Amino acid sequence: MPSVIVVGGGVAGLTVAHELVERGFEVQVFDTRTAWGGKARSQPVAGTGTNGRRDLPASTASASTHASTATSST
Ligand SMILES: Cc1cc2nc3c(=O)[nH]c(=O)nc-3n(C[C@H](O)[C@H](O)[C@H](O)COP(=O)(O)OP(=O)(O)OC[C@H]3O[C@@H](n4cnc5c(N)ncnc54)[C@H](O)[C@@H]3O)c2cc1C
Repeated sequence: MPSVIVVGGGVAGLTVAHELVERGFEVQVFDTRTAWGGKARSQPVAGTGTNGRRDLPASTASASTHASTATSST
């Protein structure tokens, strides 16, 4: 099976990865962040999740995120 590495898990990277997987490629996506989506990712607001649920996403771009090293594959 042909394989492809995609660097960057933003909208562009995830879109091309999706299209390649649909065409039979084995795809690995790498990103320096721990969250997918790049500039279009959801940013959780600390303290909004209750009863063990995850925090809710922000409705503005002012929430902070954590940047760290991550290597993930689809
Ligand atoms: C506040 C805001 C509002 C916006 N509103 C709209 C809108 O209403 N409509 C619209 O169409 N667009 C909007 N945009 C633009 C849209 O979000 C971006 O154009 C789009 O998300 C870009 O996607 P991308 O995949 O090209 O790049 P990015 O989202 O920048 O993704 C690049 C990814 O590559 C990763 N990366 C970078 N370097 C490396 C490396 N060396 N190794 C591994 N990973 C790496 C980054 O961490 C990132 O996850 C908005 C952008 C912002 C910031």
